[in-house]
Amino acid sequence: MELVDIFIIGAGPAGSISAAKLVQEGFSVKVVDRLKFPRFVIGESLLPRCNELLDDANMLECIQKADFQLKGGAIFESEYDDYTALDFSKNMGQKWGSSFQVKREKFDKLLIDDAQTKGCDVEYETEVIAYDENENIITVKNLDGREKRYKAKKVLDASGYGRVLPRLLNLEAESSLALRRAVFARVDNDVRPTDETNGYIIISVVGNNDAWMWNIPFSDGTTSVGIVCTEKYFNSFGMSDEEFWEHTVYAYPPTAKRYKNSKRTVDVGSIVGYSSAVTKLFAQNYILTGNASEFLDPVFSSGVTLALESGSKAAELVARELKGEAVDYQVEYEDYMMMGINVFRDYVDAWYDGTLQTIIFSDKANAGITKKIVSILSGYVWDEKNSFVTSSRLALKTTYEILK
Ligand SMILES: Cc1cc2nc3c(=O)[nH]c(=O)nc-3n(C[C@H](O)[C@H](O)[C@H](O)COP(=O)(O)OP(=O)(O)OC[C@H]3O[C@@H](n4cnc5c(N)ncnc54)[C@H](O)[C@@H]3O)c2cc1C
Repeated sequence: MELVDIFIIGAGPAGSISAAKLVQEGFSVKVVDRLKFPRFVIGESLLPRCNELLDDANMLECIQKADFQLKGGAIFESEYDDYTALDFSKNMGQKWGSSFQVKREKFDKLLIDDAQTKGCDVEYETEVIAYDENENIITVKNLDGREKRYKAKKVLDASGYGRVLPRLLNLEAESSLALRRAVFARVDNDVRPTDETNGYIIISVVGNNDAWMWNIPFSDGTTSVGIVCTEKYFNSFGMSDEEFWEHTVYAYPPTAKRYKNSKRTVDVGSIVGYSSAVTKLFAQNYILTGNASEFLDPVFSSGVTLALESGSKAAELVARELKGEAVDYQVEYEDYMMMGINVFRDYVDAWYDGTLQTIIFSDKANAGITKKIVSILSGYVWDEKNSFVTSSRLALKTTYEILK
């Protein structure tokens, strides 16, 4: 059995940032991933808060050098000619006013390679199959069926959709969000804005808030196009994923125009029931980070931000604990993470009940309100100077009543 200070399950953004931070603190770190990298995962649009977290972990440089599409903000459009462009630099004074649109196969590989260069030990095609919580012993299996055991001082679960510890330790909880489906593909040759909004994500509201689409432009000229709707709405069409994607994209005037000369560059994929929750985020021997903890919804592109935030915070606290300092994981980790997650949850709820669209599309919203919302949509959901963070529900409700 091999001994390590920290064992990390999964080499996505949550795993990479915690690995990089912990090796830089002088700990021995083992990361395993069941897949070979590069590998595809959905989640291609980043928020400015990601840049801050990567910078803090000394990982931003490898991303800045990689020629990703700069993302300066978000456009919201409807088929009834509503249109609002939110510029991320017009925030509440935060340092980062932009981020990137990234193909995750490239982004995730750059991050884990960077963590490896900094000193962590990474092993691919190695799956975690068992965990003894009391002894803190992890069992992995390689492609050839060989099993090996590791004993760690701390285990970080960064297994994303694999949800390794929630499954093995029975920590799954019911998500508060409805069952939704995402149907997605990539295309070439789209018609893009030629002004400063080139590079923004475009969120298209379909019909009477029946569904919405993401349009994420990449620097290589291809674009990610995904549709999100309830399972009930999807089933009402009686179509396959591919038929539904083609139908929705070309029946909706703004995207029909945007993709009139486009061809799909990949097959249509889908994910159903992606929202997830857990009963707790930590115990004495382990911490859940990123999508292995709670995942809400893709509408505000918050997933990678929350993965980096939780991976980063978990690493800081583990480093302090292993150096002999007292750490209150309830307050410093779970309460902290849930504060940001719950702010995003209020915005996701307000998106699906239509309140937020009314605010975003209103031409009566003043610059003060817009700044506060821009800060939240940039991932600054822990900023206690922002009343839209500290009283998110009340602020949304009051603003809606004034603007409707
Ligand atoms: C439809 C949809 C669209 C989205 N769009 C966005 C977006 O635009 N922007 C955004 O920020 N987020 C988006 N997200 C969220 C995003 O996909 C996730 O939040 C993000 O990938 C989480 O990162 P992670 O590091 O937690 O996990 P992941 O990136 O999923 O990495 C986990 C790793 O763990 C490995 N693993 C799993 N099981 C095991 C095991 N047993 N043993 C070893 N390794 C294992 C996996 O192979 C994987 O490489 C979207 C999500 C959905 C559903």
